[in-house]
Amino acid sequence: MNELPIDILVNKKNLLPRNYCPKNLVVTDQNENNFHKYKDPNLKPMVRADIYPYIQLMINDAKRDGVEFIIDSGYRSYNYQQVLLDNLIKEKGAEAYTLIALPGSSEHQTGLAIDIAYYHNGVYDDNVKGEDKEAIWLANNSYKYGFILRYPKDKENITGFQYEPWHFRFVGLKLAEKLYKTNMTLDEYYSKKINNTLV
Ligand SMILES: [Zn+2]
Repeated sequence: MNELPIDILVNKKNLLPRNYCPKNLVVTDQNENNFHKYKDPNLKPMVRADIYPYIQLMINDAKRDGVEFIIDSGYRSYNYQQVLLDNLIKEKGAEAYTLIALPGSSEHQTGLAIDIAYYHNGVYDDNVKGEDKEAIWLANNSYKYGFILRYPKDKENITGFQYEPWHFRFVGLKLAEKLYKTNMTLDEYYSKKINNTLV
């Protein structure tokens, strides 16, 4: 399989194959205290190499605005997503299916999606809420760096995912701006494209 286009649609109806892995992943240096508790430093969050410069620029510009966050999670393999799901099923039962993406339906497998976290008063926190200044900054500015808030509030029925104020997806500068300015999800964009009703 070739490298996926940056505007690839991945959701519960458009699954990635089990064996798909991006070829050009880079290890980010953004997370010393991550939720996955990686022991091996090589297992720090990874993203596709072609999007990392945009992330770095976004992080630096945010800092200038007094907003600091880190990458909490980047690329995840199909199998790792399965492990996360299995663990959550043990903890929460069937509810797990509504809380975490099924393997193949997670954008994290593309290497184009990141979850963010931050330190508040020196304490690591991945419980990101929509009203946090970091989430607000990202929701309003991430499009300038090619990212979209992928699972917005009130669009759960369209995206098939709960509101996730921490999850951002790279789609490229042009498309990110278009989606931001028209308040459209990637799923809506694709269905309009298919139906030829895109303006
Ligand atoms: Zn995510």
